Amino acid sequence: MKTKLCLLYGGKSAEHEVSLQTAKAVIQALDLEKFEIDPIFINAEGNWIKGPQIVGPVENVKALAFSDGQEMVPNALSTSLGENTGYDVIFPLLHGPNGEDGTVQGMLELLNLPYVGNGVLASAAGMDKVIMKNLFAQAGLDQVKYVSFIRSSWDHNNEEAYRKVEAELGYPCFVKPANLGSSVGISKCTNRKELENAFIEAFQFDRKVIVEEGIIAREIELGVLGNDNPECSLPGEIVAKKDFYDYKAKYGDEETALIIPAEVSTHVYEELKSMAITAFKALDCSGLVRADFFVTRENRVLINEVNTMPGFTPFSMFPLLWKHTGVDYPELIERLIQLAIERHEDKQ
Ligand code: ATP
Ligand code: MG
Ligand code: MG
Ligand code: MG
Repeated sequence: MKTKLCLLYGGKSAEHEVSLQTAKAVIQALDLEKFEIDPIFINAEGNWIKGPQIVGPVENVKALAFSDGQEMVPNALSTSLGENTGYDVIFPLLHGPNGEDGTVQGMLELLNLPYVGNGVLASAAGMDKVIMKNLFAQAGLDQVKYVSFIRSSWDHNNEEAYRKVEAELGYPCFVKPANLGSSVGISKCTNRKELENAFIEAFQFDRKVIVEEGIIAREIELGVLGNDNPECSLPGEIVAKKDFYDYKAKYGDEETALIIPAEVSTHVYEELKSMAITAFKALDCSGLVRADFFVTRENRVLINEVNTMPGFTPFSMFPLLWKHTGVDYPELIERLIQLAIERHEDKQ
């Protein structure tokens, strides 16, 4: 009997396009002899549109961005998505707010449906860089210094915010919307003028902003896969030709090199693995995360973040890390589906 899979993709988030690319790649990799795939496209306005069952290869992402079909508002979901539809697993291929942040996961919990990836708590905590870093600090993980601001307090006295950044962190520093990904809204600042512009930019995406001490370091990432006993992949390194790994370097620029395995000493690799697992557990993760690190010239290892639904096309770091570790893309997808079912059974 085929496994009935429902793919959720698109999403009302700045990472909408990335999600569509992922959905296309996942469909391509799934064995249609084993899986029956129903697609649900979430358009940029946040409307849910159920498309026809996928019965063959999809030509391009436009074919997945339905403009008509069965409209599904979250209110109607209990009847259209609920247990009676018989889905074995839901695969939320969504990045950023309204998808990677626990909101969709909460809805799936209410519907008592198994779903791929992290639960409500891990997704929400991993989406908010301030909460995530606070939890990492509590778990004893080394990381850069950071401060955070709420839009209303910054509006009220922005001079005070800039002074705090300069006193506690200095330049260079990185200003980021607290809840986002793909480097959207992130700026590197080397002076006051840039800092002012960076706050304006970041507050366009979020009411909360985090500012971090800028560090000169290599960027190394690890994939983590599993539930209660997670495993780590080999390490991968990002070498961006640009000033930092910004949105263009991620999705437009051929010049960013992903080096797998990254050249690190056994000692550093052991530390990376142990910190990745500690981070996974600190947020009570399940399924998968991609853990992003900084490794300095002196081999100090700092955690930057975990991503609870990392970029997932076959050319993204997470699948490539697993490929080099011996788990190819179709197998990775099947492992994630299996982990989703196991987690669901464990909860019952
Ligand atoms: P994603 O989820 O796609 O990995 P993100 O939007 O969550 O990205 P970060 O990973 O925090 O953002 O930062 C994006 C990039 O900015 C990093 O890969 C790195 O190149 C640079 N960067 C971020 N923070 C710092 C820092 N504190 N010091 C130096 N570089 C940084
Ligand atoms: Mg991130
Ligand atoms: Mg992300
Ligand atoms: Mg990152």
